[in-house]
Formats: sequence, C-alpha cells, structure tokens
Amino acid sequence: MTALVVHYHEIALKARNRPLFVNQLVLNLGRATAGLPVRRIRKLPGRVVLELSEEGSAGAAADRVRQVFGVANCSPAYRSSLTLDALQETAEKVLTGQSFQTFRVTARRGAYKAFPLTSQQLNEVLGSFVLQRYSARVDLKNPELTLFVEILPREAFLYLEKVPGVGGLPVGVGGRVIALVSGGIDSPVAAYRMMRRGCLVTFVHFHGAPFLDRRTQEKTREIVKLLTRFQYASRLYMVPFGEVQQEVVLNTRGPYRVLLYRRLMARIAEHLASLEGAGALVTGESLGQVASQTLENLTVIEEAVTLPILRPLVGMDKAEISEQARGIETYEISIQPDQDCCTLFVPRHPATRATIEEIGRAELTLDIDRLVKMGVERAELEVFAFPEAP
Ligand code: ATP
Ligand code: MG
Repeated sequence: MTALVVHYHEIALKARNRPLFVNQLVLNLGRATAGLPVRRIRKLPGRVVLELSEEGSAGAAADRVRQVFGVANCSPAYRSSLTLDALQETAEKVLTGQSFQTFRVTARRGAYKAFPLTSQQLNEVLGSFVLQRYSARVDLKNPELTLFVEILPREAFLYLEKVPGVGGLPVGVGGRVIALVSGGIDSPVAAYRMMRRGCLVTFVHFHGAPFLDRRTQEKTREIVKLLTRFQYASRLYMVPFGEVQQEVVLNTRGPYRVLLYRRLMARIAEHLASLEGAGALVTGESLGQVASQTLENLTVIEEAVTLPILRPLVGMDKAEISEQARGIETYEISIQPDQDCCTLFVPRHPATRATIEEIGRAELTLDIDRLVKMGVERAELEVFAFPEAP
C-alpha cells in the first residue's frame, strides 16, 4: 500500500476550531512519522492522507500514526483515479494475496456527491467484479473481508482495514501546562491524559540532591523520554530540592512538612510556568489515595498558587491508574525502587486535615520567597525529542 488514510472524530469539532485542529494534526503526523518514507501529507475533505514513497512502509507508518492524538483510525490504502476501470484495477491490487470465503464492499461517495454512481451502485459494481475473480460470496453482516472504497473529489482510496487510533485532540491545540512528575506511577499518567486533551506538557521534577541519590532523576528522564513519543519535543526542569527541604525541617514541626513541601513545589512550578507561558499546573493526585491527598490538603496546596492545579486522576483508583501506566509503558520504570524526596525528613503520620491557617502560621517561620527563588534559579532544563536524533 502506498498511502495511509487518517480519519479523525470530525463530529466533535466546532466549525470554527476545525482548521486549527486539522492543521495541528497534520503537523503532528509529520513529526510522528519523521524518518519514515512519507512523501507528503495532504488535507482532504474530512480526512488526512499520507503519501508513502515505499510500498512496504504502510505498516510502520500506521504504527506511528495510530498513536497520534486526534486520530480516530487509519488505513493503509491504495490510491486510484475515479474511472471504473481504475477502481477495479486498484481493487485487484488491494486484494492481491488475500484469501477469504466471504466479503463485502463498503463504498462511500459522501465527500464527492457528484460521482456518477451512488454508494450502493458502487458496492454492487465492485462486488460483482470481486465475485468474478474470487470464489467467495457476499456476506453483508459478518464478512471475513471488507473492501472499503472512499470516493473523494479527485481520487479514491481503497483499503481493507481500519486500525484504531488513540483518539483525543492533537497535542498543541490545548495550550501549555506544567506537569509535576515524581518518578512514581501516577504523575506520568496525569501528564499523558493532559497531552491526550491537546496540551503541550513541560515537566518539572524535584529531587532530593544533595541528600538522596540520583535514581528518581534517572527514572524521570526515562519516563519523559517515553512520554515524548506523544508530543515530539519535551522540556524537563530538574529542581534540586534537598536544601529547601532542609530549611523547612529546621524551622517547622513534622506533621506539616509534606504539605509545606507541596506548597513550595507548586510555587516553584508556578514560576517556571510563567517562563514557559503555561496556563496550569498538573499533578497525579487522586482523592483519598494517601494521607496528603484529602480534600482538605488538596485545598491547602491549591491556596499557595494562583494558577489552577489540574488533577486528571482525581476520581480514579490505583488499579485504573496502574492499568493506564502499563498501557503507556511507564509502569515498569515507575515501580523501580527510588528515594522520593517527599520521604525526606517527614514523620510517619503527616497531617491529614491541615487548615490554611495552620499552614500559614508554619510558613511565617520560613522565608518563602527566598526558598522559591532558590528552586527556580537552580532548576536545570533538559530537552527531549522524538524520534531521537540519530
Ligand atoms: P506519584 O505516583 O505521581 O508519585 P503519589 O501517589 O506518590 O504520586 P504523592 O507522593 O502524594 O502521590 O504526590 C502527589 C503528586 O505531587 C504527584 O503525582 C506529583 O504530581 C507531585 N509530586 C510529588 N513528588 C514530586 C516530585 N518529587 N517532583 C515532582 N512532582 C512531585
Ligand atoms: Mg510518589
């Protein structure tokens, strides 16, 4: 096959947003297939078509394309001109090497109503052509093979399968967000879900250096590398947080520390967000999962910043989150043992229902502005690309 027909969920689109959506999708399809023999990418009515310059490359291209957010499904196809002879010849090419007992033809001329045959007439003409060449019969309900024919204004595409895509919205149409990623199971899934809604994600990781080893940093890099498959270019800020935490420990009581860390993280992330032009923070918190994630504590964390904190996992349980983590292949990395900086200098029983007043009093003993500045200034930016440069 020498083309890949890409369908998106058009119905969900408001007319005004459609060009934006399709242009971003085309851009992303180009980036996702970098290094593959794609000659050009065309916007056609209701679909996008990738023209391939090598016969055997459709499978590899489909593997990349089905992962692109916004894709409903994609089909390795042959292109044909609109004469009946050409359509039959192309049908023969598409069917080469196929063995089947039952089949049907599903033709659509919806994108080119001026085509002289109706969809049903086309089904019949091409159906009898197949009947003449193969000892197979028509089964409309449950065919072993379906020959799809899409009639467009200047050309047609013929194919046998629709490879399901991941859906969602093309990365880039939803603006930029800052995702706090810990190296654990949850936060990579949260970042993924935001990408799937069209957001470009910049990552921030806080690590316990100089008091803890570099394992969470290594894990986070591997996770960001995996997630970059979905947005093609990523930025990751590594923030050394150990000394900030040390100051918190010297000045405050144990039960509040986790929340004080979280509020400092949120503030530092908010500063990075303004550098990045990002409109929200994203965390992997889910309600009630651990002591720090009660409604009260989420409220206290929220109060430290003005940007919204988005929590795409808030209503999911651990099993659902873990399943998604496996799906995006971050799970295996996340479960490797590490030393999370939030376990640094914290008591066994952190406060579960802190109030803003209590935390505010605890923060009076800290020079918040200086601590935030320390984090922002020491943050180191790393960049990632997909496909990786050879
Ligand atoms: P995760 O599986 O993402 O680590 P968790 O269930 O361990 O989450 P917490 O440790 O309470 O939950 O962290 C809640 C959220 O806070 C994380 O999902 C992440 O967004 C953010 N976070 C926690 N620790 C860090 C860190 N070291 N660096 C960046 N973000 C962090
Ligand atoms: Mg964690």
